[in-house]
Amino acid sequence: MSEALLEVDKLCAGYGEMQVLREVGFVVRPGEIVSLVGSNGAGKTTLLRALSGVLPRTGTVRFAGRELTALTAERIFALGLVQVPEGRQLFGQMSVLDNLLMGAYRCRDKKEVQRRLDQAFELFPFLRERRSQRAGLLSGGGQQMCAMARALMAGPKLLMVDEMSLGLAPVIVDKLLDTLSAIRKEGVTVLLVEQDVFSAFSIADRGYVLEMGRVVREGSAKELVEDPEVRRAYLGL
Ligand code: ATP
Repeated sequence: MSEALLEVDKLCAGYGEMQVLREVGFVVRPGEIVSLVGSNGAGKTTLLRALSGVLPRTGTVRFAGRELTALTAERIFALGLVQVPEGRQLFGQMSVLDNLLMGAYRCRDKKEVQRRLDQAFELFPFLRERRSQRAGLLSGGGQQMCAMARALMAGPKLLMVDEMSLGLAPVIVDKLLDTLSAIRKEGVTVLLVEQDVFSAFSIADRGYVLEMGRVVREGSAKELVEDPEVRRAYLGL
């Protein structure tokens, strides 16, 4: 088995007195798509924010061979751990193109920025057509594409996607899942955090189930989707 790209151990985080994450541990290996599922309020967004360094946390987070726990969000982003936030959080008044360029703000090499832009437009041809349109005017699916493309413009090693499918029609979700598979083929490792268990496990290699801030199950995507308890709790089967 190859060495982990991301290795999380005994991660705790919360808001003031309220502890949300309780000794969370998991690994993501290079080239994998790993899905982390959990119901509303399980702590998924808190986990991603703790990994990104925007929330105080304890425990250990190793990424690409470095210990991240003491680093700022800015440094973590620069190392290639990049989050696509829940709710997309685009700059609504700015064009699609300017949103994408914002993702590459740290890169001073114009050729490299152009290379990333070409790659983003290849993955999301829809955005190429809409490059001059205000991002806030895109449909929900279009905004999700724009948020994912903006994150790719940062040149991530690991792309963490929060609730990608939220509020989107199944046909759009399927398209985005296909694009995530294509992104992995381009060499980007993916951590997908989802409430929608079926879509999360449809493209994943492995997965974890988070409940009340703890990892309660882990396994291959196939094992998890066939697990009677997962099916009962998350799929209503
Ligand atoms: P969702 O699908 O609703 O986003 P989630 O699994 O991502 O769920 P979190 O958003 O991480 O869950 O929330 C975990 C817990 O932390 C919840 O009880 C929530 O109310 C609480 N929480 C989240 N954000 C904050 C905040 N900014 N301040 C205080 N409590 C918060």
